[in-house]
Amino acid sequence: MPEAYVTLATNDGYAIGALVLGHSLHSVGTTRDLCILITPQVSQAIKSMLEGVFNKVEVVNVMDSNDTAHLSLLNRPELGVTFTKLHAWKLTCYSKCVFLDADILAVKNSDDLFQQPELSACCDIGWPDCFNSGMFVFVPNMDTYGALLKHAQTVGSFDGGDQGVLNTFFPNWNRVSFVYNMVASATYTYLPAYKQYGSNAKLVHFLGTMKPWQHRYDSQAGQVETSPGYQHLSPFLNSWWAIYVRLVQPGVPSIDVSKASE
Ligand code: UDP
Ligand code: MN
Repeated sequence: MPEAYVTLATNDGYAIGALVLGHSLHSVGTTRDLCILITPQVSQAIKSMLEGVFNKVEVVNVMDSNDTAHLSLLNRPELGVTFTKLHAWKLTCYSKCVFLDADILAVKNSDDLFQQPELSACCDIGWPDCFNSGMFVFVPNMDTYGALLKHAQTVGSFDGGDQGVLNTFFPNWNRVSFVYNMVASATYTYLPAYKQYGSNAKLVHFLGTMKPWQHRYDSQAGQVETSPGYQHLSPFLNSWWAIYVRLVQPGVPSIDVSKASE
């Protein structure tokens, strides 16, 4: 059975992110399939583009945690839809998968992740005993899917999103290097480590409210305007935009991507 990278988009904004992610995975020479879960909100034009980049485009329903109390603690009420990620365990046509958020960019080949067991992931930079659910290695299985749904309904999610469900379901997760889900941080110990190890990054994750497609891009200069504290990520943001401008934007001339996820 084949193995696949799997991502998720519930609207055109995140689908644009997924298109860039898909192109970046091809450009680093992955030998695995690409699969995307989308919901019916994604427009037909963008769906056709996804079909050109992904081997499989699977339409699923939005699963909402309806947990506004917990999500408002995080100030991210829109993250309830990340429960939709749980559909990924139904992809039993694949023997193993690596889930990637749509706001990730592949900068180096990461296919060695497929040698890792379920559930492998990187530490979350907020609470490092937890894993960040933007990247995880998993094995599609209907029994696991059923157990996850039951767990979501009975135990619930401590943050209202998928990360809270998955961390209590997989407490003995396997840690892989941060280079497989590198995110920006404003912590004072981060920058020296970034200078030492940042060039090893394989998957860069643009976590947080400001997504690459929402940054201002100066097309004359070919440069992204970055917000204070995040300048060190600007080479990666520029790489994201270089792929977007060359391979994605020509297909979507009428869409203002900075507004597409509203
Ligand atoms: N997502 C989506 N639509 C939404 C919010 C999230 O499709 O409205 C998907 C998308 O794949 C996204 C992932 O869920 O990358 C997790 O959300 P996000 O990346 O915004 O969370 P963060 O990584 O910033 O915590
Ligand atoms: Mn993300």
